[in-house]
Amino acid sequence: MWRGVAAVRLLRPGGARAASGTAAVQLRQRLEKELEEIRGAGTWKNERVIASRQGPHLRLTGGGAGILNFCANNYLGLSSHPEVIRAAVEALEKFGAGLSSVRFICGTQSIHKDLEEKIARFHQREDAILYASCFDANAGIFEALLTPEDAVLSDELNHASIIDGIRLCKANKYRYKHMDMQDLEAKLQEAQKHRLRLVATDGAFSMDGDIAPLREICQLAQKYNALVFIDECHATGFLGPNGRGTDELLGVMDKVTIINSTLGKALGGAAGGYTTGPKPLIDLLRQRSRPYLFSNSLPPAVVGCASKALDLLMESNAIAQSMAAKTQRFRSKMTAAGFTISGKDHPICPVMLGDARLAAVMAEDMLNRGIYVIGFSYPVVPKGKARIRVQISAVHSDEDIDRCVEAFTEVGRKHGALP
Ligand code: PLP
Repeated sequence: MWRGVAAVRLLRPGGARAASGTAAVQLRQRLEKELEEIRGAGTWKNERVIASRQGPHLRLTGGGAGILNFCANNYLGLSSHPEVIRAAVEALEKFGAGLSSVRFICGTQSIHKDLEEKIARFHQREDAILYASCFDANAGIFEALLTPEDAVLSDELNHASIIDGIRLCKANKYRYKHMDMQDLEAKLQEAQKHRLRLVATDGAFSMDGDIAPLREICQLAQKYNALVFIDECHATGFLGPNGRGTDELLGVMDKVTIINSTLGKALGGAAGGYTTGPKPLIDLLRQRSRPYLFSNSLPPAVVGCASKALDLLMESNAIAQSMAAKTQRFRSKMTAAGFTISGKDHPICPVMLGDARLAAVMAEDMLNRGIYVIGFSYPVVPKGKARIRVQISAVHSDEDIDRCVEAFTEVGRKHGALP
């Protein structure tokens, strides 16, 4: 007890005085300096607190009501879909709050197996394995699959979790220029000396809304006897005629070997991730993948949400089509207003502004007009390429989209982004 109180005192300002020169005081000083540097660089991330469910219309704590939300990954609007919520409640009541266990000890229920089977069927793959997040799926796969005899070739703009996952493995690492097929080919030639080559790319890139040239990547992979891995977090559920993802959109479902994706964006938005692909790979991940072996099972309510989301998508592609129509409406109206929107046909619509300050003040002014969007600048995106990222959802109405475009036009004129 006494030791606990002393430890707390060390970390408090009062306690720090009494213990000056200790490691805890040095740590506090170092952290405060680092935090000040982040504030000074203008890259401090404030978290706005939402007092309502996730959806197109939000209430923020501290007053903001009726805010139009354009910055969630809730592409299909399933985060607050009544059937998804009901499925979560039913799973919670039937299967409990959680498993208090990892999968291989006593953490696997019938709903986990059913969801894995459903994911594999959705992607037309042999098997699937669940994780607590796609971050974990990306952290686990490369180390389990690749050895120092192998090579991984990764797009330079891949998501942080792919980069971290690759760091954890002992394979030979090649980084190719963003979507640059000449550079990928050169790197594949260099990597011929290794036993196995794995090309790793985001299917859709979240900062630019651009889609990986999977047809060309698969052709190169075939030519140089390589495997293809895609991260489909910003594609699963809505890209392609039936929402299967980038591989369906580009007609290469039979050429991509491994897919990692999330349950935390279009598929109900709760949490969770997965790998789907050949059965022996999934079997190996169950034996070797560290985030799977050493982390708790997905809670039943989360499994219930994702499972219902997949049912809805396998019944009909109407929701995905509605989102595509709204995306088209936003992109064409914004372009007509004079803005440059990066990417093509993707619900991630980055409004390119260039200047970091301009992106920040415009995003703030959009919120003053009741539109919630976020500005991104260096180091999240390259210097001089600041933008406001808008994300369209199936549950935005045409009026919501038009209100957003009008607000952008007013704010753009006011701050000099438009003539
Ligand atoms: N991969 C990509 C491309 C992402 O955008 C994200 C989430 O931001 C992740 C992986 C991680 O997904 P999760 O939230 O399920 O950990």
